[in-house]
Amino acid sequence: MLSYRHSFHAGNHADVLKHITQMLIIKKLKMKSKPAIYIDTHSGAGLYELKGEEAQKTQEFKSGITAIQDYQSKQQGIAEYQQLTIEFITANQYPGSPLIAANMLREQDKMVCMELHNTEIDNLRTNLSAYGSLATIGVHHRDGYEGLLAILPPTPARGLVLIDPSYEVASEYQQVVTTLKKAITKWSVGIFAIWYPLLSSRAGQKAGLSEKMLDEIAQFDCKSVLNVAMQITQNTGDAGMYGSGLIIVNAPWQLDSDLNDLLPELLAHLTPDKVPGKAYVEWLKKPD
Ligand code: SAM
Repeated sequence: MLSYRHSFHAGNHADVLKHITQMLIIKKLKMKSKPAIYIDTHSGAGLYELKGEEAQKTQEFKSGITAIQDYQSKQQGIAEYQQLTIEFITANQYPGSPLIAANMLREQDKMVCMELHNTEIDNLRTNLSAYGSLATIGVHHRDGYEGLLAILPPTPARGLVLIDPSYEVASEYQQVVTTLKKAITKWSVGIFAIWYPLLSSRAGQKAGLSEKMLDEIAQFDCKSVLNVAMQITQNTGDAGMYGSGLIIVNAPWQLDSDLNDLLPELLAHLTPDKVPGKAYVEWLKKPD
């Protein structure tokens, strides 16, 4: 049973970090004229109403995208995210990862979005229909883990896979590790970005599972593993999700320095007043 709905969390601090990282990687892929592919294994609805009941209930976007839109950044990675999201925010909406990619990709590029939830897949189809022919944008109602392995290696042969699970059950962390290992074997040159939550002991058996996942992925037979994380509050027992991060396998050249440059500013805007946060980029496996 899938009960997670991203509409409660759209535009929160974790989305901000995830979508800025996603944009930085897509931008790097576009530096070459050769076609690229973007694969989203856990797409969600693609577009979220910030005045909707779910977003209003949690108001998580207020300490995320709203805090980022209230100034003009000189950091290029943040400024481009501000520019892409502003027209949505003006309409009280927030774009999910599929719409962010659809706004960035070129005619020669391809995109495949997978979503398992029966309602979210319909929402996704509707929200992506504004982006032209669904022939270049494949929308699959299927399990993202099974679907990813089925379509690898892809054509074109360069691109990014975003794996952004809701981790509803504790076993999903292991499912990510197992699937990713197989996926890298099938597509050794692909870039894989995996989102993960940082959870305090209040999360019970899920606490510590992201860290374990990082350790296992760092041992993979691949070129490199980069980790970017942001702790927006302290890891006190009752903090719940005190931050988030992304593991990037085969990170493009200089993604580490691009992230390093913008993280202090991002953290300053996303950290609640007077609460010490922390943001860092580290190589778990350095490229040769
Ligand atoms: N990537 C989206 C974004 O950044 O806008 C948010 C995705 S949300 C965190 C996770 C989504 O994965 C939910 O919409 C959920 O229904 C879907 N989902 C859960 N399990 C799945 C699975 N095994 N395969 C595909 N989608 C799944």
